[in-house]
Parts: sequence; C-alpha cells; structure tokens
Amino acid sequence: MQNFMSRSHQFNLLTNRKLANKSKSLNLRLLSLSLCGLTSSLAIATPTAHANRLETFVYDLTDSRIEFSVKNDIEPRGTVISNPTRIVIDLPGIVYQGPTVRRRVGKGVQAVRVGQVDANTTRMVVEFSPEVKLNPQDLRLKSRQPGRWTMQLPQNISAIDLNSISNFTLPITGAAISSGFGWRVHPITGERKLHKGVDFAAPTGTPIFAAAEGEVTYAGWTDDGYGNVVELRHDNGELTLYAHTNRVYVSKGQIVSKGQAIAEVGSTGRSTGSHLHFEIQPDGRTAVDPMDYLQLRQVTLDLASNSFKD
Ligand SMILES: [Zn+2]
Repeated sequence: MQNFMSRSHQFNLLTNRKLANKSKSLNLRLLSLSLCGLTSSLAIATPTAHANRLETFVYDLTDSRIEFSVKNDIEPRGTVISNPTRIVIDLPGIVYQGPTVRRRVGKGVQAVRVGQVDANTTRMVVEFSPEVKLNPQDLRLKSRQPGRWTMQLPQNISAIDLNSISNFTLPITGAAISSGFGWRVHPITGERKLHKGVDFAAPTGTPIFAAAEGEVTYAGWTDDGYGNVVELRHDNGELTLYAHTNRVYVSKGQIVSKGQAIAEVGSTGRSTGSHLHFEIQPDGRTAVDPMDYLQLRQVTLDLASNSFKD
C-alpha cells in the first residue's frame, strides 16, 4: 500500500508535467489525445489520500459517448483494434480492484469491459458490432476537468448500436435495483441460492411493462414463492417472467406489445417487500442476468465501491 501511494504521487507530478506533451506512438494506432481546456490546477495526492482509482465508467448509447472519471488525473492511452472493432483505453497508474466487469449491451455482440491488465494499469474496452468501422483520427479523448474524461464517437454509431442490441426494454421505470442476479443468501430461507432475476424496488401498484412483444403463457398465482406471475414468450422463444405482482392485467394466450402494462408491482408470494422480480430465459429454460439483455440507453458502472477499503 505504501508503495502504491508514492507511485500514485509521482504519477500526478508526471501528469502535470506531461500535459503539454503529445501522445507517444504505440505499436497499435494511437488515438489522438486532446488536452485542450484541461486546467493545470490538479490536486496532488497527499500521502494520506486514497489510492488512485477508476471511479465511474459510462457508455452512453444514445449519444455514443464514453465517459469516465478517476480519482486523480492521469494520461490515458487509447487504441482502436479491429476484428472485432473495439476501443481500448488504458489507464496507467490506476488500480481497479475487483473482478473484471463485463456487460453485454446486445446479444453478445457488443460489450463493455473494465478490468486490470497488470499491477498498475486499468483497462476499459468497448466492443462493437462487426459492421462498425472506426477511424482513430475521428476519436478524441478530452478532459475538461482533472480526472474526468470523455470520448465522443461518430454519430452514425448510435444507429448501429441501437439496431443491433436486444429487443428487451426495462419492464419498469424509475425503479432502483434492490437485488441483482446471482448467488446470494436468501433473505427469508437463509439458504444459499441462485437469484435468477433482478429485483426492482417500487411501491405496490407501480405498472409493469412487457419487455418485448410476446404471448402471455402464464398469468396468475404460483405456489413456488413467486406469487402472482406473468410469463411472456417472445419471438425467438425467449421467456420473460414478472413475479410477486399485486395484480395481473393480462390473461393466458393474449398477445401483448412491447411496453404494454401487463401487471402491477406487489409483494405476493415469498417476498420481503414490494418489488418486481424480473427474469429473462433466452432459451426458454435457463435464467440469465437480465441486465445483459436489456436494451440500455446507458451502461453505467459505478466502480468506486469496488475499490480500496482504506
Ligand atoms: Zn427476486
């Protein structure tokens, strides 16, 4: 830890001095770094400051923009790699502790990844569909405030992005995720169990929308702890499931459109409070992390909490 602190300190000084410098060449094509507007009044880490780290990462699909922030300032290195097309941004001197975060944006086509490549470098990768061609000359990594960086991608990428990603939209608006997909100790039974969906906390009565067009294959009470459930079958055989609902608005056999209100949030079945439990089964049998399949406008990774506990 002591080691890292002093290294972090050096990096800031180095960054300050190097601000006017231009990018060095790499084996791969280098993104040009535009440093205009960057103020010179960078905060220098004191020996008691937290280690330098990646704090947030946002990939905004609507605006085709990458944004990230680090605790102190550094000089990122960006490259564009083809087959498949991806933008790789390395953050020297930035430690990211924790597992590599990979979030699919489309059906395995596009993804963002954040992880550590070596002891001292955090890497962020945005992967694109094969049809996307990027010219490194068009890309600028800009910093208007110390530690905050943005990269605007060509506007025509938005269209490709949104067309190539999955059909599923969020089944609820304005609700926070209270529990994600994955293994956990069940709040009621106390046993270690796979949580097969995502829970959105919301008041009873909040409308639940169909994540995509589909046919209602189940609507009503279940005895498996899910309470009142709506199950939809979609075009390619995917199932979506909406559990613990207070009331269902649809009945079996009905065709519903994407975004149609199909039920309202409740706390029926084995539930500790009013919420929507939402599942996606792409093959009609096995539940996967719904967040990998939802049509997102933005991929936001809040990484600060994943980092040092100092
Ligand atoms: Zn749940």
